Amino acid sequence: MSQTIDKIKPGYPLFKQPEYQDLMARKRALSEEAHSDEKIQEVFEWTTTEEYKELNFARTALTVDPAKACQPLGSVLCSLGFENTLPYVHGSQGCVAYFRSYFNRHFKEPIACVSDSMTEDAAVFGGNKNMDSGLANAYALYKPEIVAVSTTCMAEVIGDDLNAFIGNAKKDGHLPESVPTPFANTPSFVGSHITGWDAMFEGFCNNFTKDQMEDKVVGSNKKINLVTGFETYLGNYRVMHRIMQEMDIPYSLLSDPSEVLDTPADGQYRMYAGGTTAEQMKDAPNAIDTLMLQPWSLVKTKKIVKGLWKQPASVIKIPMGLDGTDEFLMKLSELTGKAIPDSLTKERGRLVDMMTDSHTWLHGKKFGIYGDPDYLLGMVSFLLELGCEPTTILCHNGTKKWAKAMQKLLDSSPYGSDCEVFVGKDLWHFRSLMFTNKPDFMIGNSYGKFIERDTLAKGEEFAVPLIRIGFPIFDRHHLHRQTTWGYEGAMQILTTLVNEVLAQLDKETGTLGKTDFAFDLVR
Ligand code: SF4
Repeated sequence: MSQTIDKIKPGYPLFKQPEYQDLMARKRALSEEAHSDEKIQEVFEWTTTEEYKELNFARTALTVDPAKACQPLGSVLCSLGFENTLPYVHGSQGCVAYFRSYFNRHFKEPIACVSDSMTEDAAVFGGNKNMDSGLANAYALYKPEIVAVSTTCMAEVIGDDLNAFIGNAKKDGHLPESVPTPFANTPSFVGSHITGWDAMFEGFCNNFTKDQMEDKVVGSNKKINLVTGFETYLGNYRVMHRIMQEMDIPYSLLSDPSEVLDTPADGQYRMYAGGTTAEQMKDAPNAIDTLMLQPWSLVKTKKIVKGLWKQPASVIKIPMGLDGTDEFLMKLSELTGKAIPDSLTKERGRLVDMMTDSHTWLHGKKFGIYGDPDYLLGMVSFLLELGCEPTTILCHNGTKKWAKAMQKLLDSSPYGSDCEVFVGKDLWHFRSLMFTNKPDFMIGNSYGKFIERDTLAKGEEFAVPLIRIGFPIFDRHHLHRQTTWGYEGAMQILTTLVNEVLAQLDKETGTLGKTDFAFDLVR
């Protein structure tokens, strides 16, 4: 073997060595019972056809490649946004290993989250014992000030009673009564990560405000509450802080994991860092209003804000693109009487300038896009503002009502006239659509790279390059630190889009003396 201690090769060049090539060929011939290359090619070609698409869309009982994640994944992210809080998942160890590694790979950070490791016996007799010892151990080891409990499918299927289990654990001395323990039922056979985030936030609201409303007066603390919903761009938390500070508005960002998911490498491990405090949560009903920045994902939160806190829960869109950010800032101004400062007006002007500069390259470019409901509404709104043409929009965790709202948005612009919207469909459906209705680019999370590879395998002229915006992004570094909200976010998205278009143009016109008629230095 060519691998030696003095010259260690990583997998990619190593596996190109003849001995590995031989080994893989032998393995394939002797043990894989693989079909012939011709047969594989024939089936591959068939999966790119309109006929296959029809069959693919006739699927009713099978998800092939979901464009969504589990409810408890969302509940864990919500819990990470609170100060000194330990996310605790009542259920299977494997599920929690998946949540931790999902966030590890996306944020490149360690993720503090425990499970009470329910196994077969707990599936039969219930998970009460697991909860007792799990809470005791987690508290003894990690000294949290808050333990936020959610569930996996197993605990939900057998019907464990979280409220009773937590109450019993405290009564029997496994966890001090004084430790707040918000909880949420998060079965993943319904909903998705965005529902789980919402459910856990409702759990925090219940824990810190439900039986403590007597002395609360709407508007008495002169604050605005902001609730993000499931949000993985850390720049979005930071831009919200900046906007509120520049507008001189007292505020609480309810659930803010931007510190714990971005700790410095200075020799100190921070299991807990930053986050919304328990005091901020207790004070939340005293605010003028609570703005839900991803309203389609925050159904339970909205009920609490309106029903329990008696605040208006003013309707806004996700603050993405020009229009979404304008509306957000104007709502803040309307609610607080504060003027929009020059700094933000100038920032808006710079964005408009950038949009004008890049317009010639983005106008008429066709995009296929998939992701979560609010993100898609914000992103498509901005694409239309840029003169781009969305052609396929797929939202696995969207509803029919959401699809109507998306259609209304598309109908508001001439650039949205040639677009199809799909809800409840997965990435294998999206793959079919990338062959049968080819756009210039697709926009989505890292999983799109397999679709990109498949389209390229059919031939260069069928290739649909992937632009990585979304969650999760595992195969590129530091994109999660970027911003997609506010004028700042729009600038970053625009920069990404136009440079991907220009890079693609270079790629298509790079052959010396043949296609380099558009291989230009100045654009
Ligand atoms: S779908 Fe259910 S069982 Fe599977 S990882 Fe998610 S919570 Fe666990």
